Amino acid sequence: MDIQCIAPLVRSVLAAMGLSDQTNPMAPEILQEYARLLLEKNQVMNLTAITEPSDVARLHFLDSAALLLAEDLSSGPVLDVGTGAGFPGLVLAILRPELQVTLMDALEKRILWLQETAEALQVSNAVSVHARAEEAARKPEIRESFGVVTSRAVADLRILSELCLPFVRIGGSFLAMKGSQSQAETEAALHAIEELGGCLEKTIPYRIPGTDVSHAVLVIRKGNPTPERYPRRWAVLQRKPL
Ligand code: SAM
Repeated sequence: MDIQCIAPLVRSVLAAMGLSDQTNPMAPEILQEYARLLLEKNQVMNLTAITEPSDVARLHFLDSAALLLAEDLSSGPVLDVGTGAGFPGLVLAILRPELQVTLMDALEKRILWLQETAEALQVSNAVSVHARAEEAARKPEIRESFGVVTSRAVADLRILSELCLPFVRIGGSFLAMKGSQSQAETEAALHAIEELGGCLEKTIPYRIPGTDVSHAVLVIRKGNPTPERYPRRWAVLQRKPL
């Protein structure tokens, strides 16, 4: 598929998902340009294993857009932990220009590319931050300050919860994007979620439109403050997940 087909594909699927009215009407064209920049840079920097334009549209853009069906993000600001090449965070910022989105990743070259890309796409509501989540979450100015924290394909849910829940303010949500086969992983993480001040509110399974790929969004609500001792250092939290 030619890259020019991304905008019409995204537009028609957003309409089928019932998202046209609540997303930027220019988003399909901006996402098409994002795909062009992504695939161009991917030739010299490891950004994505997905290189077919229609797959970029479905497996990155529309998968990220599915979060809009899971939760009302307008309670933001939004933080995307381990954003990589901007999924789901930069896509959400493009779809919903009124949201304030922070893109965080431990790999500096990806963050520099995201900064350049957001600027080239004239996306002014996304800021890119080079940081390890477990270190950033200990800073008082950022801890428990986000209404919504998202993360896709970063770590096992027990570890991911320790990285993400400390950033969520009381009443806010942590949206973990997982494969649909994640039942055992979810059950194993229930203790960690509770220990960190959260509670699994619901699991929303969905199929990415136009594919046979099934994923799920876990909506984890923060009811209590995360104890001061979390997150622990990376070596510890990885060796002894909660
Ligand atoms: N979320 C993106 C996606 O779904 O395409 C990227 C997924 S990639 C497999 C995982 C990303 O998480 C990498 O870019 C990595 O640098 C980042 N990451 C891993 N551990 C992290 C940590 N402790 N803090 C911040 N970023 C982290």
